[in-house]
Parts: sequence; structure tokens; C-alpha cells
Amino acid sequence: MPAKLSAQIPGGPIEDKWSKHIFDIKLVNPANKRKYDIIVVGTGLAGASAAATLAELGYNIKAFCFQDSPRRAHSIAAQGGINAAKNYQNDGDSVFRLFYDTIKGGDYRSREANVYRLAEVSANIIDQCVAQGVPFAREYGGLLANRSFGGAQVSRTFYARGQTGQQLLLGAYGALNRQIANGKVKMYPRAEMLDLVVIDGHARGIIARNLITGKIESHSAHAVLLATGGYGNVFYLSTNATGSNVTAAWRAHKKGALFANPCFTQIHPTCIPVSGDHQSKLTLMSESLRNDGRVWVPKQKGDKRNPADIPEEDRDYYLERRYPSFGNLVPRDVASRNAKQVCDEGRGVGATGLAVYLDFEDAIKRDGRDKIEAKYGNLFDMYRQITGENPYRIPMRIYPAVHYTMGGLWVDYNLMTTIPGCYALGEANFSDHGANRLGASALMQGLADGYFVIPYAIGDYLATRPYDVVHVDHPEFRKAVQNLKNQIEKLLTINGSSTVDEIHKELGTIMWDYCGMSRTEKGLKIAREKIKEVRHRFWSDVKILGTNDELNMSLEKAGRVADFIELGALMVEDALHRNESCGGHFREEYQTEDGEALRDDESFTYVAAWEYQGEGKPESLNKELLEFENVKLTQRSYK
Ligand SMILES: Cc1cc2nc3c(=O)[nH]c(=O)nc-3n(C[C@H](O)[C@H](O)[C@H](O)COP(=O)(O)OP(=O)(O)OC[C@H]3O[C@@H](n4cnc5c(N)ncnc54)[C@H](O)[C@@H]3O)c2cc1C
Repeated sequence: MPAKLSAQIPGGPIEDKWSKHIFDIKLVNPANKRKYDIIVVGTGLAGASAAATLAELGYNIKAFCFQDSPRRAHSIAAQGGINAAKNYQNDGDSVFRLFYDTIKGGDYRSREANVYRLAEVSANIIDQCVAQGVPFAREYGGLLANRSFGGAQVSRTFYARGQTGQQLLLGAYGALNRQIANGKVKMYPRAEMLDLVVIDGHARGIIARNLITGKIESHSAHAVLLATGGYGNVFYLSTNATGSNVTAAWRAHKKGALFANPCFTQIHPTCIPVSGDHQSKLTLMSESLRNDGRVWVPKQKGDKRNPADIPEEDRDYYLERRYPSFGNLVPRDVASRNAKQVCDEGRGVGATGLAVYLDFEDAIKRDGRDKIEAKYGNLFDMYRQITGENPYRIPMRIYPAVHYTMGGLWVDYNLMTTIPGCYALGEANFSDHGANRLGASALMQGLADGYFVIPYAIGDYLATRPYDVVHVDHPEFRKAVQNLKNQIEKLLTINGSSTVDEIHKELGTIMWDYCGMSRTEKGLKIAREKIKEVRHRFWSDVKILGTNDELNMSLEKAGRVADFIELGALMVEDALHRNESCGGHFREEYQTEDGEALRDDESFTYVAAWEYQGEGKPESLNKELLEFENVKLTQRSYK
């Protein structure tokens, strides 16, 4: 492994690595912590938990988000739940089982040591959140309730109805606010980081644009944490909040942070299907619904009868048929591919034929409507409001949609990117989910990173750093500000005829068609050329109204779309070079006889970490070889 990709995995047995590492990590004396400034970009679950915890430890924090309040981070949208190996159900769960399920679920493309640590700290997260007052669902006797999520045969998912992300974020936001009131966190809402400042090889600050006034501001610190979320919106249509973007991570990438596994995208099987050309967003129907909902399509092609008129013998509960062990709770990549397959066979339902049924009739008969409503009421309401149909009576129609990105900035065991002093947390890093994330594991990872990993790991770096404060007049800050002003000026003067959204949509269509649920060498090569055209069109024909000195959402979006175009090109290269199928990366050329993903462990058991080489030049590939000492690589089977 090249030096720049040293993963810093501690030695010793896997179950001892983290506790040994915590002991070995250099400590910053409590009195010295107040001499260090840390910038946290992003105040979703990962960023808010990190900012609050680091401030509680005594560091001085500057926290940034582009929304008007941390409460509006995309994390608030999370519905179904958060995993933890508490074994409250006494159904055989353990830290090792959560670790094993996550490694297997990710199709053996994640780093064992990080995943084990994630499973290990998972139980602490629940305790922390309960102490904050997060209202998790409870059993009659008072213990916290659990439900099941895909890729697991135990019930380990903690939830607050269908609003788990919201409740967890309110907990983290409360902790953050306490530190804002204490003066240990200075909060910068409506501020967008547009560059990372690197001085003498170390991250020393950021450049941010005030989204209300357009003012470009410089901020220095001793370390920078990027907790800026995922980049699913490269596909234009996704279940992500419309503001989610890759800009912070991408600009850090251009300053030297390697970008890992960019093509690993999760397509979620249970989303409300696309209904027309004018949508800017798709809506998730939580995976938790697959605990009780049964997925089916008609057995016969082109069967247009109402679902209620289709008798049992004419229905194909294809997940239950093909995967008797896991049934409707197979992992997302498997469920999505199967939905696509039955629709490609002409058995899809609804007006477009691009949908399958998620049916609660049996569950309602068995448990009663009240019970189903108590578990999923808000999700059913949401579905009814969007589609105008009552899912208590008519099966929901669902179809896969882009949902999560497993790729992200490459980080070592300490969550540090390849730029010393620059860290990536939560969905912004690549670390724990391999080629496919299991449901309810993103919230777990974001909060593990923020509450329990970074507060220790950052000490290892800071303890060796001087307390010197870099002034924002430093030439590197001034250079970054000037470059940014030039870019904004360039965008505003193109004055073409295409809106930013039109170009974004065009990019998204290419990504979905050629680098989406299934991929081929031929298609990816077409995408490569088409993205070049989109890039050219953007820089020669985009039209941005207004000026820099005001609230200008089309200017904001333009910067983000410019980065999405470059990222899209890298995703295509990554998908093209990985001549195997694994998890969400399904290359049609590489599949088993029954259509499952066929890995090539000999050639591809590595993390692909891409290194920026300069404007218009191909990126170079670095490989972190993955070693499996605790889990045996097998063909993933959920049968
Ligand atoms: C609809 C939906 C439902 C989901 N449900 C679940 C679930 O039930 N369980 C589960 O485990 N996972 C779920 N997920 C996934 C999970 O919600 C996300 O992966 C997770 O919330 C990401 O948290 P984060 O803190 O990393 O990023 P985010 O919550 O996306 O926060 C990103 C932060 O970065 C800030 N930011 C970004 N760029 C910049 C910039 N340039 N400058 C300044 N600030 C910036 C934003 O303002 C924001 O504060 C769901 C996802 C979706 C889309």
C-alpha cells in the first residue's frame, strides 16, 4: 500500500483493536484543548454529534451548515431506525454478528477493523441518545423496542416511529446548542464551504460563502472535519434532500484528499415511483415497511387487473419465492435488482409499469390496523398525501431509487483523509459499508463517528501539533479566496441559455441510465463521452441570473452542479475499471447463473482510492488492499 494510503489499523485481535488504540492514542491535556480550534463543516448527525462532543471536551469549535439551522440537515429525513447490537430481543445478536452482517452486506469490500469498531460502539450510541431524551419506541414493559431491517436475521433496529432521524437530530442539536450557549461552539448557518486551505501539507482552514450576502469569508483552525453528507444528487433524482451535494468533499479532493469507491451507490428498493418529468425529488418509503409489507407482482406479463382482483394463485411474491431465508428482508441491492428484473420482464404494475406492490393486507388482517398504524402511521400518511391512494386498502406501489452513497473521501482508522488534519465523518467518508450499506446502519455510523470515534482519534493528531494560529491573511488563504472569486465571476458571465437545473437533470439521466442499477462496459463508455458534452455545455451555455452579492440560489446550485459533473465522470471511470459485480455495483457482464452479483476477489478485493491530477487530467488509482482475517469471503447468499 502506498504510504499515502496507510490505513493505520492497530495490531492485535479484532476485538481488542479499538480499546488498545484508545489507550495508545496521545492525549491532549484538558487545559491545552482550549488552545486548539477545530472547524466542523456540516451539522447533520455526524457533524452535530462531533461538534457537541469536541466542544464538551474543551476544544474551540466553529461549525458550518448551509441551511438556516442544523435542524434542517438531511439527517432529519431518516425514517426507519438505527442499528445497535444490544441483543434486547435475546435472538442471538452480538457485536460479532452485527460486524459479520455488515461486512457480508457490504459484499466484502469494507475494512474489517473499522466495521468491528462500529459494531462495538453501537450500543453506546443508544445509551447516549436515550440519556438525551430521544423518544425511542418502547415495549409494553418499558424496554426499548426493536424491528428488523434488511440483511439481518435478528431484530436490532431501534426506532422512533418513522421519524428516527428527526428525533436523533433533535438530540444532537440539543447537545450542540448547549455548547453554542456555553460559547464553545460558534455556529455559522447559511454558510457554504467552497474550499479547503492546506498550508505546509496540513489542513488549516476553509473558505466559505455567506449565502445571504455573498461575502467570501476565511476561517482558520488546527483541524477541519468534513461531515457534509452524501452525493446521491449527482443522479438529480434521489431520495436525498435537494440541497445535499458533494462540493465540500470534492473541493477537498482537489486539494489532495483521495476519493474512495465513488461508483458504490445504493439504490433503495422501496421508493415512490417516478410519476413524470417535473419531479425534482423522490420519496423513500422506509425499509422498515418490509417487516410487515409483502412485495409482489402479477405472475402474468401485462396483467392490468386491480390488485384486489388478482387472486393469490396469480401473484408472485418473488422475494419470498427466491430467498426463503430472508424473504422480503433481503438487502437493498438484492431487492432493487429483483424489482428491476420483474419490471424488465413486463410484470411491473401501475401506469408506467415501473413499480411493484408492497402489500399490507395480510399484516392488517393478522395484527389489526391499529398496530400497523402505530408502527408506520406517518409513512402511510405521507404515501397517501403524495399518491392520493390509501395504503391501508390498496397496496403501495414502489420502485428503486438512488438513496445513499457508500463511496466518499478515503479515511484511515482515525477518520483522517490523506490530507493531515482533514477528517471525514458520516456519509461523507467511504469507510464502513463496502459496496452496499445495510438499512439503519448510516445513522449508526454517523453517530459512532461523531460521538465516539473522532473525539479520541483527533487527539492523536492534535497532540503532536503546535498551538500556532494561522492568520487568514496568509498567502494560501488569499490565493484560495481569489480563485473562488474568479470561479464565481466566470459562472456569472457565461450568460448562456440553459438553466442549472436543466443541465443537472441531463447529467442525472446519464448517470441513472448508464451508471445506475446496472452497468455495462459499453454503456459506461457512452456515459464517459456524454458527460464530456454536458461539461462543455455547462461551461459554455449555463445561465445564472442575479449577482454574487445577494441570496442567489441559482449561483449556489451552479457551483454544486459543476462539481457533480466532475464527480460523475470519476464515478464512471471507477465503475468501468471494476470488472466485477459487488453489492450495489452490478456490472451485467459479471453475474452468477441466477443473476446475482459475481465478485472477483482475486483481482478486486481493494478500496479504489482516486487521486486528483489537475484540471482535465485522468485521475490516478491507488489501492488499499482489504485483508479479511475474521470473516471468510463467500458468495453472498440470502436464500
Ligand atoms: C429519506 C432517507 C431516509 C433515511 N433513513 C435512514 C434510516 O432510517 N436509517 C439510517 O441509518 N439511515 C437512513 N438514511 C441515511 C441517513 O439519513 C444519512 O446517511 C445520514 O443522515 C447522513 O448524515 P450526515 O451527518 O453524514 O450528513 P447530512 O445529514 O446530510 O448532513 C450534512 C451536513 O453538511 C452540511 N454541508 C454540506 N455541504 C456543505 C458545505 N459545502 N458547506 C457547509 N455545510 C455543508 C449540511 O448543511 C448538513 O448540515 C436515510 C436517508 C434518506 C435519504
